[in-house]
Order: sequence, then C-alpha cells, then structure tokens
Amino acid sequence: MSFSSFGLSEPILRAIGEENYSSPTPIQSKAIPAVLSGRDVMAAAQTGTGKTASFTLPLLHQLANGDKVKSNHIRALILTPTRELAVQVAESVATYGKHLSLKSSVVYGGVKINPQMMKLRGGVDILVATPGRLLDLFDRNAVKFSQLQTLVLDEADRMLDMGFSDEIGKILALLPKKRQNLLFSATFSDAIRKLTTGLLNNPVKIEVSQRNSAPKSVKQWVYEVDKGKKSALLSHLIRNKDWSQVLVFTRTKNGADQLVRHLKSENISAVAIHGDKSQGLRTRALSDFKANKTRILVATDIAARGLDINELPHVINFDLPKVPEDYIHRIGRTGRASFQGEGISLVSADEVKLLAAIETLIRQTLVRETETGFIPNHKVPLTRQTKARPKKPKKPKLVQARGEGCKTTGEQKNTGSKPRRGGNFLDADKSKRSTRGKGKQRR
Ligand code: AMP
Repeated sequence: MSFSSFGLSEPILRAIGEENYSSPTPIQSKAIPAVLSGRDVMAAAQTGTGKTASFTLPLLHQLANGDKVKSNHIRALILTPTRELAVQVAESVATYGKHLSLKSSVVYGGVKINPQMMKLRGGVDILVATPGRLLDLFDRNAVKFSQLQTLVLDEADRMLDMGFSDEIGKILALLPKKRQNLLFSATFSDAIRKLTTGLLNNPVKIEVSQRNSAPKSVKQWVYEVDKGKKSALLSHLIRNKDWSQVLVFTRTKNGADQLVRHLKSENISAVAIHGDKSQGLRTRALSDFKANKTRILVATDIAARGLDINELPHVINFDLPKVPEDYIHRIGRTGRASFQGEGISLVSADEVKLLAAIETLIRQTLVRETETGFIPNHKVPLTRQTKARPKKPKKPKLVQARGEGCKTTGEQKNTGSKPRRGGNFLDADKSKRSTRGKGKQRR
C-alpha cells in the first residue's frame, strides 16, 4: 500500500515524500481511510507507531477543502495531555501541512498567554492544545468553537490519568454537537471506555498492536543492582558501551536532579527535564539532546510523555515506574517506526514486585543480564550468585577475642561468603510470579 492510494492531495503527498516515508504504517493504513470517510474513530495505538500522521494527514486533507476560518475561531482541535506532546504534534502538523496554506498553532500552560491570544486573533485551522490552557483562552474570549468540525483526543488514557477528565468534560460541552471525533489511546481502561460512550458516535475501532504489548522493535533486558549502585552502574554502562544518546527515566524530580549531578561529576553531559523546570529550559534541553549536544536526558514520566526523538537508540529505566503501563510508554520512545532500539531497566530488590507487574502486563519475562566489568566495591559481579567454592579446611589458628573466648579465623571468613542480601532476587521472584501470573491477566 502507498500513501497515494488514500487519495490525499498532492501537497500532502509531497510533504510525506520529503519526510522519506516509503509506505504507511499499520495504524496509518487503517486510520487514514477511516478519518477521510468522516466517521468517528477510536484507535488503540502506542507512540512510535506513526499515530500522529494517521490523524494529521487526513485532517489536513479535509480542512484544505473547507471554508476559510474566521477570527478567533478554530476548525480542528487536537487535545494532548502535556506541553511536550502538544509541541511535537504541532510540529508534525506544520511538517505535513507545509505545502498547504492552512494556519496551525499550539497553546499550553506555563508560559505567557498573551502571545497565544494574539496568534488566535486571526483564526487558526488546527489548534493543538492542553486542556487547562484552552479553557483559560476560552474564558478570555480568545477562542471560539462554532466553526469546529473535528476533535482529536491524543493519548486520551494519559489525559485521564493526569486528572483532566473535568476539563475534558467542560471542553466537550462547549463544542458544536455535529463534529467528527477521533480518539487515540495507548491503553483502553474502563475510564476510557466510559469516556468514549458519550463521545463517539458508532466509531470505527482500530487496534494495531496487541493491547498492552511492548514494541517488538525494542530489545529489552534488566540488570539487577543494589539501589545505591545504580548511578555507578549507569555511568559504567554509558562509558563501557559507548552510548551516545540515552533517555533515562527516574520516578521523581529529585531523583532526576541527583542523577544529573552524578553524571556530570563523571564528565558525562546530562540534563534533566521535569515539572519544576521552566518551559524554556525543557525546550532547550530537548533540542540540545536531539542535536546530540547533550548525551543523556533524564526525565520523569510526565515530562517525557510524547517525546519524539528520531532514531533514539537507548531508553533506561533508572527506576521502574509505579504504573506498569508506563513501562510501555517509556520504552516506546525508542524502536520507533522502522528503527531498532534498546530498553534497559536497572532493578533493585525493592522493585521486584514492580518488575513482576510489568512482566505480567507485557506477557514476557525480561532477560536478566550481567555487566561483568562492573564491580564497584564488590568482589563478585553483582548479578552472579556467590556459590562458595568448597575450600580446603585450614588448620584453625586460635586467636583470642577479648571477652568472647576463642574464635577461628576460618569462621570469620565464612561469614563473608553468605549469599548477598538481594543476590539473584529477580529470579527468586520469577518463581513466585509464575504461579501468581496464572490467575487473571491485567486488563
Ligand atoms: P508517532 O507514533 O506519531 O509518535 O510517530 C513516530 C515516528 O514515526 C515519528 O518520528 C514519525 O516521523 C515517524 N513516522 C510516522 N509515519 C511514518 C512512516 N509512514 N514511515 C516512516 N516513519 C514514520
């Protein structure tokens, strides 16, 4: 199948050609004709599958043939959960629509509202927005919806996870009743199904990859490591494997900052993005990372949502996510389109249950790897069970320990060859899970 078979207009096909897309991805093959037919669409697709183009291309085609947009009006609205995703979707709209004379803009919170109001003054064909800022703009009469013909909810699951359901409800109440609705979500929880019931009218349902599965193009494995040794293992891996562009996930903002400090102290260029960083800093950090000026980008889940970095080779879970679905979103940053990627998790003893939940969700047992060269403060590699080799019994020398009678030096040594606390803990947990996992499958 080729893009031209969809009947998309020449300026759009030209833009796709300039992006060197040779053929549509599976989600594009299904969603583009469905959107062009005018029907509502409900699509389960992970990031990295080409889902942005799957709604943007037909949207541009439809809008190019319609009425001129009036001042302060919009003709299509794309709602996204985060500023980063909003910016990326807006970039895709601009890229695919560069040979058309449609106007597009992006609005999100955390920055001044006035420049956004100015841009809306002349009317905008496609507006990409985060929910809160859109409502602020509506309250200031800066945006009007009576010309709106299409609504896209991108990463709807994450919008609900982030607590945007009230805002979404308010926005839906403001939109014209007659419109086309397109909903994209990585997962389909009960909350999403509830949302779709009131929103979508007899939608075309599209599911391109197995629900809650990890992308096949990402090679995944884990290292088991003591919590306090994770930073050292990470810098060791970066150096030893000569990784040049690595996206690292931490669970907390503080954890992200600490890790950046550690990497910098090891002369590895790194920068953090999270909710406490200004929008300007986040944008700069991302563009430096994309341009290979910074080797490591450390991010929290929310900040990294929707990040699209072409050909990103490595994603590291410095901490495992609390929500197993986030594992899929995280490693979905790599292995995009036709590229191969690597998703690596550093797992400490306290994260064994989280790992088990992830493996149950993705229905896959992740390979346990050993990093043989990494032995900081350890006499044995971290992941290998210390099987005490039978030693020739030494003649016990008698030593006098004050007040304790006599001890043998042999006894003292033997205490050191006990298996480490946490040694091989991942495998120990696997056996537990294999009985537990036989029960019901999550979602
Ligand atoms: P998305 O899933 O929308 O985040 O897209 C992931 C990546 O795939 C982006 O970098 C797109 O530029 C790229 N992409 C989208 N469609 C295609 C295609 N048909 N062929 C090759 N790459 C694509």
